[in-house]
Amino acid sequence: MKKNDFEDYICRYFCAYYLAGKKEDEACQAALVVDELVRRGRLSTGEFPCGSFMIPPAVHDPQLDAAVCADCPFRAADCDFQAVPPIPDSPPCGGYRLLAMLMQHHALTAADLPAATHG
Ligand code: SF4
Repeated sequence: MKKNDFEDYICRYFCAYYLAGKKEDEACQAALVVDELVRRGRLSTGEFPCGSFMIPPAVHDPQLDAAVCADCPFRAADCDFQAVPPIPDSPPCGGYRLLAMLMQHHALTAADLPAATHG
């Protein structure tokens, strides 16, 4: 799946790293998780708070870290949010931000996330 499939309802509104027109061969795992939930009818894009950045920019949700970021191709080398050692004040990608927001608002639960495959 390419970034273009969901960039209009995830990346464009929620991602601090989004660059319009930039082609990516890989997609953030968080965006793929959101897209899958939309495709299954678990989420409706019309209910997303587009343009809202209501959560602090660099707050980690351990459930998302384990169930989403652990399988992201960007985690090892390209994600400042998950960098080791940490890079202060680095925000997560838009998909992570949206998932965190939906979890905080109880629109999603841990049961909606993929099973964590890593610690
Ligand atoms: S926050 Fe980083 S590691 Fe986690 S899904 Fe987004 S890009 Fe991938």
